[in-house]
Amino acid sequence: MIPASVVIALLSLLTEPRELADVPSVRSVFTALLRRSHYGYAPEQAAFVVRRPNGTLAAVHWPAGELRDGAEWIGEYPPGVIAIAHTHPGWLPLPSRIDRATASRSRLPVYVITATSIAKTDGGEPIVVTSGSWSPESRRDRTARSSSSFVFVSQSQRE
Ligand SMILES: [Zn+2]
Repeated sequence: MIPASVVIALLSLLTEPRELADVPSVRSVFTALLRRSHYGYAPEQAAFVVRRPNGTLAAVHWPAGELRDGAEWIGEYPPGVIAIAHTHPGWLPLPSRIDRATASRSRLPVYVITATSIAKTDGGEPIVVTSGSWSPESRRDRTARSSSSFVFVSQSQRE
């Protein structure tokens, strides 16, 4: 006879989406990171995705550092950590060599967030989880970019 607690644990494994990035609360974390990074134009933003004791998923944001193209966490990992997520500039949508090393060392998936894609590494080859505008924020970003390129065109026409 299987103890009830094991059955409940198995059921939660079955009902939980296999891909973390598909969980709505995790998408919210990714959207918040994207916004904090000014959609990839500001320095990289990073957060741990943690599972709280009540089962909900939440973010522990890394402090804003001085690194322009990197993020740094000094100290212990927070309790319940299940993933690391961080932003990249839009032209670098895939995990870097450092990201892969971080995933191997921490044994946590490392997610790379840009306005138009979500990719991850478990230490090996990068996996593209989502490509294309995945959040309302990235759709807004597209509008912002087209209006700024319009400004650029009108400036160059003046010269
Ligand atoms: Zn990275």
